[in-house]
Amino acid sequence: MPRLVIISNRLPITIDTKDGELFYHPSAGGLATGLSSLDKDYDRIWVGWPGKIIEEEWEKPAIVQSLKGGGLVPVFLNRFEFEQYYEGFSNKVVWPHFHYFTQYTTYREEYWDMYQAVNAKFAEVVNDLIQPGDLVWVHDYQLMLLPKMIREKHPDVSLGFFLHIPFPSYEVFRILPWRKEILDGLLGADQIGFHTFGYMRHFLSAVYRIVGHEHSFGKLTLGNRMINVDVFPMGIDYEKYAHPENHIKENERIDPERFRKGGTRLILSIDRLDYTKGIPERIKAYELFLQKHPQYIGKVSLVMIVVPSRSGVDQYQELKSEVDTLVGRLDGIYGTFDWSPILYFFRSFSFADLTALYRAADIALITPLRDGMNLVAKEFIASKNESQQGVLILSEMAGASDELTDALTVNPHDANDLVDALVTAIEMPLEEQSRRLVSMQEKLKIHTVKDWAERFIVEQTEMAEFRNYNAKSLAVGSPERELLLSKYEAAEKRLVILDYDGTLMNFHNDPQAVVPDEELMNLLDALKSKKGNKLVVISGRDKNTLEEWLSPLGIDMAAEHGVWIKRNDKWKASPNLFSSWKDDVRPVLQHLVERTPGSFIEEKDYSLAWHYRKIDKGLGEKRIREYRDVLSYLTANLDLQVLEGNKVVEIKNSGVNKGKATMNWLNRKEYDFVLAIGDDHTDEDIFKTLPDNAFSIKVGLDQTVARYNLMSVEDVRSLLKDLV
Ligand code: UDP
Repeated sequence: MPRLVIISNRLPITIDTKDGELFYHPSAGGLATGLSSLDKDYDRIWVGWPGKIIEEEWEKPAIVQSLKGGGLVPVFLNRFEFEQYYEGFSNKVVWPHFHYFTQYTTYREEYWDMYQAVNAKFAEVVNDLIQPGDLVWVHDYQLMLLPKMIREKHPDVSLGFFLHIPFPSYEVFRILPWRKEILDGLLGADQIGFHTFGYMRHFLSAVYRIVGHEHSFGKLTLGNRMINVDVFPMGIDYEKYAHPENHIKENERIDPERFRKGGTRLILSIDRLDYTKGIPERIKAYELFLQKHPQYIGKVSLVMIVVPSRSGVDQYQELKSEVDTLVGRLDGIYGTFDWSPILYFFRSFSFADLTALYRAADIALITPLRDGMNLVAKEFIASKNESQQGVLILSEMAGASDELTDALTVNPHDANDLVDALVTAIEMPLEEQSRRLVSMQEKLKIHTVKDWAERFIVEQTEMAEFRNYNAKSLAVGSPERELLLSKYEAAEKRLVILDYDGTLMNFHNDPQAVVPDEELMNLLDALKSKKGNKLVVISGRDKNTLEEWLSPLGIDMAAEHGVWIKRNDKWKASPNLFSSWKDDVRPVLQHLVERTPGSFIEEKDYSLAWHYRKIDKGLGEKRIREYRDVLSYLTANLDLQVLEGNKVVEIKNSGVNKGKATMNWLNRKEYDFVLAIGDDHTDEDIFKTLPDNAFSIKVGLDQTVARYNLMSVEDVRSLLKDLV
């Protein structure tokens, strides 16, 4: 059976000490429940911190041994590591920052140092145990550097990452001094999952702007790897909340009616004590509600459960005092001898209590200022399975609001919005309550936590297969590559056509960085010199540049997509070209440049190109849309064509393309082996022109008519090395 290696900050257990002995209790969180559904298909190993600082070195081997049977592998942290990595970087930097509480982000280099060190500590444990064929899945914000650390040791392992908290907008993310390292860390994975499309969008935008990788429909190509970025909203164990009685001992069952007194309407809120949850804002809005609608005084009660959390972080202690003060004040103003406006509990509740409360509540008031998902909202809905009445008021800042569209959504910063929602909820007819509940239940029944885990793993597995398939197409040692090499060796008259940018050299904004390097020049020289070879470079670049760079090789070339052809050491322009049209088109492009600082015009002999590689891609595309009509009008009348390339729009005489250029060689001689490699869609014209038995190779994974794929410039060079 294949193995699934899960890595999270915490193992799904708690350790207790009693009379000097250690006891382990499983803690069945959502993640553990979801993953248990995969047990039938995988041997599961879980790596994480056991939740207790083990001071005595001699205790550790015994813990390792006793956890082994359950497939658990502990990573031990000492107090200092715990304080700096977990309480420090994870909870005082990433947590506030990713939840848009940048005022709480604590920029301390020593936290960052320890975050790296502890991620490396996890990597050491994981890297030692990974075996070929393992599926590895890393969880959450404490371990964002881990994917890269694993990838470096295990280049071929199938590796997923899921972020359980929001990913903030680029404008917020960019503030972090360690933004690039965090992205590089995450990009070690084959698949990166988020709860919502919004988080995914923010992530992709940060990747593009900070490390320069563009995505295509959520797929990123990095060298010879492809990364799938996708949305996987985490669900709950629906059955467990719909039928809690099956999971509670007889003597622990609670009658939900117990919570209701004298017909008061129960409003329920449950959160961990956290500044992201909007607890003070909620109490204030509730006070405003009583003030604006006194008719409800004595008729409603807010049951507010706050679960203690992260007491080691200052902000949490301050928040606790603030909440205490607000609750006390509210009670002081409105409380009577037989009615309390708010029932506040600062502790955690058992599953039996929680589910009874969910059932008893008329309204769930869940108003986080930011929340990755919010499972309480989903649990409340599922718990209403039988009663079919109750209203969910849900913050639009919670990830769950993307799915729970039949909730009353509110902006948690807008107290009046909350007040109105409370009134609407209290007055909502039972049929409407039921209709909304049922519609949300239908979604939650399908998208359970089990479904979430399975979907993530299925997509990750498909990614690995996809990667192998493409890499295999001409990978070293593959049958296809062997076939190509044997045909090549057996042939006597060979034509090899190569594109330049993106095929022989990686794209780069800096023009100096695309000058051919020594390795490339030697490789092309050797290829050209091999007996029987005709080597041609066909490029969109202008002829002077190609001449400057490649003339020492003495090879044939085509410049400007075939406007100029160099054969037998002589450049010739294609017949019937004219450039008088440039005076009509140039002002349009100049206008485009004036409106789009950072873009520029390149003038070639028979073409004009507008480049936008130095500006935001989105802005460039918007401009192209705006100018498409006027350009089409001009070009149609002047017998020109508009070619949209990679961050460039080129206008040139119609009838010029790389395919026509290719005919200059194909038509002149019989070849018994033809090979063409290109990456851009202008290279598709070459592929279409080639005879059926030719070897056409597309660099990258975009749609193509080429027969084979190579993933990167490095892969192209490796193949060329095999040909010399
Ligand atoms: N919860 C609990 N005991 C309590 C209160 C809450 O076990 O006394 C659980 C609740 O059922 C839910 C989880 O804690 O599954 C909270 O998850 P959520 O996504 O709402 O918020 P988080 O704490 O992860 O930010």
